[in-house]
Amino acid sequence: MAVFGAKEIAGLVNGVLKSAAGPDFNPTVQSVSIDSRTIADVHSCLFFALKGVRHNGHQYLGDLYQKGVRSFVICEPVDLQKYPEACFVQVDDSLEALQKLASVVRSRHNYPVLAITGSNGKTIVKEWLYDLLHETLKIIRSPKSYNSQVGVPLSVWNMSDQFELAIFEAGISMPGEMEKLAEVIQPTIGIITNLGEAHQENFSNLSKKLDEKLKLFAQCGTLIYRKEQDLVAGQIKQAYGKTNKALFAWSTSDETADLFLYMHPQAHSTRIQFIWNGREYELNVPFTDFASLENVGHCLAFIFSSGYACDSVLAAFPRLQAVAMRLELKQGINNCLLINDYYNSDINSLTIALQFLKSQSLNEKRPRCLILSDIEQSGFSGSELAQAVNRLLNVYEVDRLIGIGRRLYLNRELFGARAQFFQSTGEFLASFRASDFRNEHILLKGARDFRFERIASVLQQKYHQTQLEVNLNNLVENLNRYRARLKPETKITIMVKAFSYGSGTVEIARALEFQQVDYLAVAVADEGIELRQAGISTPILVMNPEEHSFEMMLEYRLEPNIYSTEVYEQFDRAARRMAVSDFPIHLKLETGMHRLGFSSAEELEQIALRVPREGRLRIQSVFSHLAASDSADHDGFTREQYLRFKQLSTPVVANQPNKVIRHILNSAGIERFGDYQMEMVRLGIGLYGVSQSDVLQAETVARWTTVISQVKTVAEGETVGYGRKGKVTTPKQVAIIPVGYADGYDRRLSNGAGKVWIAGRQYPIIGNICMDMSMIDVTGADVQAGESVELMGEHIRLTDLADWMGTIPYEVLTGISQRVRRVYIQE
Ligand SMILES: *Cc1c(COP(=O)(O)O)cnc(C)c1O
Repeated sequence: MAVFGAKEIAGLVNGVLKSAAGPDFNPTVQSVSIDSRTIADVHSCLFFALKGVRHNGHQYLGDLYQKGVRSFVICEPVDLQKYPEACFVQVDDSLEALQKLASVVRSRHNYPVLAITGSNGKTIVKEWLYDLLHETLKIIRSPKSYNSQVGVPLSVWNMSDQFELAIFEAGISMPGEMEKLAEVIQPTIGIITNLGEAHQENFSNLSKKLDEKLKLFAQCGTLIYRKEQDLVAGQIKQAYGKTNKALFAWSTSDETADLFLYMHPQAHSTRIQFIWNGREYELNVPFTDFASLENVGHCLAFIFSSGYACDSVLAAFPRLQAVAMRLELKQGINNCLLINDYYNSDINSLTIALQFLKSQSLNEKRPRCLILSDIEQSGFSGSELAQAVNRLLNVYEVDRLIGIGRRLYLNRELFGARAQFFQSTGEFLASFRASDFRNEHILLKGARDFRFERIASVLQQKYHQTQLEVNLNNLVENLNRYRARLKPETKITIMVKAFSYGSGTVEIARALEFQQVDYLAVAVADEGIELRQAGISTPILVMNPEEHSFEMMLEYRLEPNIYSTEVYEQFDRAARRMAVSDFPIHLKLETGMHRLGFSSAEELEQIALRVPREGRLRIQSVFSHLAASDSADHDGFTREQYLRFKQLSTPVVANQPNKVIRHILNSAGIERFGDYQMEMVRLGIGLYGVSQSDVLQAETVARWTTVISQVKTVAEGETVGYGRKGKVTTPKQVAIIPVGYADGYDRRLSNGAGKVWIAGRQYPIIGNICMDMSMIDVTGADVQAGESVELMGEHIRLTDLADWMGTIPYEVLTGISQRVRRVYIQE
């Protein structure tokens, strides 16, 4: 790993060194970070304060200094007197400085560097090459899918002399980005995996995007691609055909290609035959789908063109496995929280997983437990490995370690007191006792060979198999799409009422807090208290405050919606009892919904005068709610509501000593009435994946799935289910699924009104939906017990389900019962 002095870094990135500690102060830098929450070794870490649209790393300088960080790269002015013992490298752009430093690290090494780009398959090709080659070569690779402007330099920073091959992936979403990544990676070999529509928004057409991607390979010696990708092949020829770059095209249809692969499909695998240097080869891979086979092709092309082919490498092809690239967060037994990561196990990815573990339990004092398999780290002795792991355990405050595998077992003496060791996953399972795990955050981090999913299955809380998978990445993506429609200064409240529209409370709030939303809004005080107890500190607005909870609200800093003089007076009395002053409240104005809210201008005027005079409360915001912002038929009414709101709110705002925030737009309002955004908006259903217009396509956030319990044949003349509603006129195959109306699977979906998705097709419900079960007509399909069923998700859209039920998406989401376990997915 690279080691620098802070002064040297200032020179390398063309920065100006500033320090109140005098000219000799030159802290050593051994690691770099951009995330203030998860710094490993505070004393030797260089923190890059990055500036994004909504995120500003400079905000954390004080905290980090407190924690012991001493070296910073900044691009905003800083008051040196506040940091008597730190050193700052002042630059114009911190991100550029990070990239520059990484490119310096890169240039110090001269082993081959493979860069992979393309729309799909980058991470899989990278991981498979690692799986295939790591026993013959010492390889450094990007952790997970670290392929962005930030991820790439962080990956490259870890290059060192102990390696013999580097594999980095590069992804772009904007013109101009690839040249920067090319400078950081300086690849000697390249692969372009596949070109598709992903991240197309910022490019006028595919060919423009490809042009940008190809810039990655401007300096590299060899470029590998698939000949059938016509556009890719053509543009590569055009760009590099007349240079001395070696172009390596492989193909499954053109025998004159540099490598011709004959692919012969079998039932569950594919046999691949080819000739290389006059020798015939044949191997099997356990895949039949097109995408996997294409990725295998890229791997073969790289291995042969680079001269890495040998018997042991080829023998590894049949053992390739699908790559699970996601961290999963699940409810564990005995109130444990389980984080599953069985992607691989090396120091780098362990660090990332531990960061995630720590960020999950940051404000909660639950003990942290790490279950770790042997680490695949070439070039480390047992004791060096133990040292590295011990350091991480320390930094991320892990309370106990369970080590699994021969290597860890043999070095067990080298770990601290709270550690236990097993030689294999089987040995661990044989001695497993559920009572040993209680109220902990558990990280399962194991290399694929260790089959940690077997451990997960004993640690996971056993509900029935039905689950609602909540994709946090898509949730954040939706947030950003709505934000992109707002002015940068417009604040945003996220409605997390009703268990975040069914998606879960604390996990969603944590994700939103990290995205720095301005307010969270809950329905009742209890929901707010739960968030505070979980450590959420974002301001919280309570939409239906009830008098009995006012003191709790003041204690937990939960801000009420005040919708009448009576409620104001009750809340003010509570404020007097609790001796608070200047506590924020929010006035709801009635403008046409005819629900809660002040409607008389006189009454409002009174309140507007009283609040500042009485001094215990402060009008933080005034708001109203649109009754039909999603419906073009009522746009006239929506405009009237807005005008009425302006009229009512103006005198209130004018009479306050503080600046009062005004807000009226909900999700559909943001999409359709951007001009009415005022100082804040309230986003609800859109965040959870339902957009009202096609200008903003919200991503699917929730996936509701179950598995088939049984499949049976029902003879002609029989009926299915209660009331004998499902008449069978010709023999049918019926699949039974363990989901019923008690789960929120609505009875209105009975008798063919609703459909589910199984193995690539929709199948109708037959008979009446029962309390805990439903029956599906799967006649003619080859499906079996244990097969996965999608009730709602990518194929069965939430809006379809709502239509079939004769209701709106809101009711579907919030109706999914609490007994359906929520699983959070983060990539
Ligand atoms: C629920 C709610 C919203 C959010 O509405 P969506 O249509 O889900 O965006 C906004 N404001 C108020 C007052 C609400 O109750």
